[in-house]
Parts: sequence; C-alpha cells; structure tokens
Amino acid sequence: MRDARRAAIMQMDWAALKAAVAQCTACVLHATRTNTVFGVGDENADWMFIGEGPGADEDALGDPFVGQAGRLLDNMLAAISLERGKNVYIANVVKCRPPGNRNPQPDEADRCEPHLERQIELIRPKLIVALGRVAALNLLDRDASIASLRGRVLDYKGIPLLVTYHPAYLLRSLTEKAKAWEDLCFARKTMEGFHAQNVIRNDQ
Ligand code: SF4
Repeated sequence: MRDARRAAIMQMDWAALKAAVAQCTACVLHATRTNTVFGVGDENADWMFIGEGPGADEDALGDPFVGQAGRLLDNMLAAISLERGKNVYIANVVKCRPPGNRNPQPDEADRCEPHLERQIELIRPKLIVALGRVAALNLLDRDASIASLRGRVLDYKGIPLLVTYHPAYLLRSLTEKAKAWEDLCFARKTMEGFHAQNVIRNDQ
C-alpha cells in the first residue's frame, strides 16, 4: 500500500501532484490544516529552497514563506540576486502545518516525502538549499548539527545540497545572520562553479 502510493506519486505530473497534495489525508496534519501549502516558484528553476513546514501565515494563505520569515527569505534571495518565482522554487518538507509550529514528526515527514521528492524530480534544480536543521535532516536522512553541515556541498539523490539557517530562526537569532550571509555567498559561488564547468564542457 505504502509502496503503491509512493509509486503512483512518482509518476505524477505537476497537475496531478498538486491535486494529490490538495486532497491528501495521509498523515494527521490534514486534520488541523486550513490550506495545504504545495510550494511556489519557477517549475524549471536552477535553485530550490526547502524549509520544514508551513507556519500560521502559510497555512492561512496556502503559500510558503509568507509573513516576517518570508520577507527575510526574499531579502536572502535578493542578496544573491535571486527573486521569488524567477529561477527559484520554494517548498517545504511537509505540506500541512504542524499545530503550534512544532517540528514535523518523523512519520509525518515520511508520509509527505514522496510529494517533495516528486517536486524535486520535476524541477531538477542544479542546487538545493535546505533551510534549517529539520529540512536538512529529512533531505539528508541523517541527524547532524547545522554547524557541522554548513559550508559543505552535500548530496540529495545526486543533486548538490547546501544547508543554512531557517529564516524564522534568524529572526530570533540576529547574531546568526552573518553566518547565513556566508552560506548564501557560498551557495552563489557553488552555482557559479557549476556554470563555469558547463561553459568549459561546451567549449571542449
Ligand atoms: Fe498529506 Fe503531507 Fe499534508 Fe500529511 S503533511 S496530510 S502527507 S500533504
């Protein structure tokens, strides 16, 4: 049953995937949500930013990263010359709000994981940026501190993945903003490196 559900999701196109998420009752989070929060942005983006789950504002509006944390994320994107919706896609590990903004439970993230995996497959981003420890933990399938994951090119199913702080955390920990800026510079340099490699390959 579980494998059949996953297999079905992994065959879906965008329209089917959006419809499946909108109607999903696969974990307990469906019972308390106002809206599902599918994700937003350029479906052919090179960049994908992934957080842990919707908060109250996102649940109310059905869009990821709105409110104060969303504005900070937009500023983070602007710092590396990116703009929401243009060559960037933004999503979360779980598509429904965990009550009280708690972290998603492992079984909730596990039930929702095929949705995100299929989104990533359809987008095929060149680089994924995991926002916060919970997103990193779920994407990398291992527990580690943010400090030990930052500044490294990691791997999600063959796609390079970097880790930085979640904007909501940065709002509470202003001293960490400088580190997030370092991470974004590292992300931009990493992407520039991919572009340079492509130019060299195309010239050969
Ligand atoms: Fe379905 Fe994901 Fe929402 Fe759970 S969080 S009900 S798995 S869409």
